[in-house]
Amino acid sequence: ATPTALMVGTGRSAKMGILIKNGEVLEAVNDVKTVVFDKTGTITVGKPEVTDIIGDEKSVLTLATGLEQSSEHPLASAIVKKAEKDNISIPKVSQFKAIEGKGVEALVDGQEAFVGNDKLLSNVSIDESMKQQVIKLQEEAKTVVFVGVKEKIIGLIAIQDAPKDTSKEAIADLKARGLNTVMLTGDNERVAKAIASQVGIDSVIADVLPGDKADHVKSLQENGKVAFVGDGINDAPALTVADVGIAMGSGTDIAIESGGIVLVKNDLRDVDRALALSKKTFNRIK
Ligand code: ADP
Ligand code: MG
Repeated sequence: ATPTALMVGTGRSAKMGILIKNGEVLEAVNDVKTVVFDKTGTITVGKPEVTDIIGDEKSVLTLATGLEQSSEHPLASAIVKKAEKDNISIPKVSQFKAIEGKGVEALVDGQEAFVGNDKLLSNVSIDESMKQQVIKLQEEAKTVVFVGVKEKIIGLIAIQDAPKDTSKEAIADLKARGLNTVMLTGDNERVAKAIASQVGIDSVIADVLPGDKADHVKSLQENGKVAFVGDGINDAPALTVADVGIAMGSGTDIAIESGGIVLVKNDLRDVDRALALSKKTFNRIK
């Protein structure tokens, strides 16, 4: 590859808001077979909102807010925001414990309490009617968290994060190039599939613990080069392992450092634009 052609290519892309760290990255983009996407903040807007509260609304929200006030998770921000809107007073919390990929446990007003997904509920039973409610909400693309004290669920909170306006078009463009599209997420499979079908993603790998994202990328690499698109702290290992790591400009610093390409405008259509550009650049070089 002649350095001049590469510089022309990357200089033009920078003007488009696509930062390409080096020529090798651009070359790898040319051979990508599969594009893997994180869900929250990458395909979706990343501003989840509480849509439904099941159970005694005030007590469910009070307990959940106590637990979530010290969490940095996007779901926690959605719950705290809803509590502020509803003027919920925050209870006393101690022994806060964030459990990656699962939720939060703490003592709230001296009682052992939790908020999170079903992986957190080892000793807790869910009755049949609640199970049905959960399934219905998840099929509406809403993430459901269980809120409870000791071994008892007192309610559910459903939280929705809509796809970005451009996600569907971005996926269609990549599929038109013959690429496989995959969603890789820590969220529940039903929710992930609902979002995937809204934006046209081919397949879904869900319920993935943060530490396991990179391993899934490695398995997908058995079928050819993989680009991974993500924004979060937990996406950094996958961004590094992928043949092409693509970080959203709005992402965390560690994601941006781990990516070989940064999409400054946070527009998912820029994944396809980066591909088009690399094809042009390499055709000129050859
Ligand atoms: P992702 O970034 O792919 O959405 P995470 O690994 O951050 O996934 O979270 C996966 C799941 O773990 C969430 O969908 C939620 O069910 C649960 N979870 C994680 N942190 C929290 C939290 N602070 N409050 C409630 N649920 C949580
Ligand atoms: Mg994310």
